[in-house]
Amino acid sequence: MPRIEIAGVSRRFGTGHAALDGLHLIISIHELLTVVGPSGSGKSTLLRLVAGLDKPDSGTITIDGRDAGALGPQERDAALVFQNQAPFPYLNGRENLAFGAKARHVPLAEVRDRVDSIADFLGLEDCLGRMPATMSGGEKQRLALGRALVRRPSLLLLDEPFSNLDTPLRVYLRAKLAEAHRRFGMTTVLVTHDQEEALAMGDRVAVLNEGRLEQLGRGRDLYDRPANRFVAGFIGNPPMGCLPVDLELRGEAVVLVFPHGGKVEVDSPACAAVLRASGRSSLHLGLRPEHLHLVQDGSLSSGPELSMRVLSVEDRGLDRIARLGRPPEEFWIRLPPGHEPGLDDAVQVHMDLEKASWFDQRNGSRLS
Ligand code: ADP
Ligand code: MG
Repeated sequence: MPRIEIAGVSRRFGTGHAALDGLHLIISIHELLTVVGPSGSGKSTLLRLVAGLDKPDSGTITIDGRDAGALGPQERDAALVFQNQAPFPYLNGRENLAFGAKARHVPLAEVRDRVDSIADFLGLEDCLGRMPATMSGGEKQRLALGRALVRRPSLLLLDEPFSNLDTPLRVYLRAKLAEAHRRFGMTTVLVTHDQEEALAMGDRVAVLNEGRLEQLGRGRDLYDRPANRFVAGFIGNPPMGCLPVDLELRGEAVVLVFPHGGKVEVDSPACAAVLRASGRSSLHLGLRPEHLHLVQDGSLSSGPELSMRVLSVEDRGLDRIARLGRPPEEFWIRLPPGHEPGLDDAVQVHMDLEKASWFDQRNGSRLS
């Protein structure tokens, strides 16, 4: 199974901003790497370059130390699965599943065994004798994944393969892909715009934005310690809220001055340490929903509080989420059961500053 090294790769189409801009990334042997970013961030461009369908303008991509562009398809041994991948219309399910393996001269008895096993694995038994015209979108997408798995490539490249599926099928296929990856151990790159899918699936997650790598790491680390404000806002749903704050050290305590008035003196070693290390007095304060607690009538809060207005309330089944603040500064909070604030109500919120993220106001990068 290959190791892929992407070194300073740029790719530009026309005169606009670069689709990929000096990207450095190493994909380890057997790894399942997810690549996540908004639409247009360069994800498909990256995958096409790794697949050898396109060449970088500058920089190099090597697969096990060999230039990806110079490798023939056999040597690269990569299977690419993309969104809405059409099966061969004139081949039935079984022939579609067998196609890639046959083309690579896998013995026919072996192909038959693999097709039966993958059809069973993906619940495609009913499709084996049917033509694609009679299959649903979900069956066709499973067929595309199945065709790649029957081939047993050493490198599996997936470009938003589940984006157009309904939620139960998407969840089912994510689990199946994870299981196939554990079973066959192929180096896998899964591209998605869905941060939840990226976190759920990836051994590591690469966050792309405008052709640049914003952060690479385990999903948990991206969530807990986003490298900058972009990652803080992109990873997590609801996202991390951010607010500009002026700070001032007063002995061991820190005074926080909020933009819309309000001042609070806190005894927060974490906050004092960031302030000392950064040497700046104006920072962005980032808080996830679990770092904010509604101060309910009659309950005593110890520590820093902020008064915010309720902008909207969303029912999400397990959680009810309130969006608080004054745009563009917004925070999200999980409402405790039985609490029904109305729109535009003022609420008191307790902040857990020991868990906060702090960002540089000039460039948005993390300071702690
Ligand atoms: P993503 O997959 O993250 O949505 P893409 O890699 O498809 O993003 O595209 C990145 C940028 O490059 C976009 O601005 C897109 O319009 C541009 N781009 C990609 N492929 C081409 C192409 N063949 N010709 C012109 N522009 C392209
Ligand atoms: Mg794309």
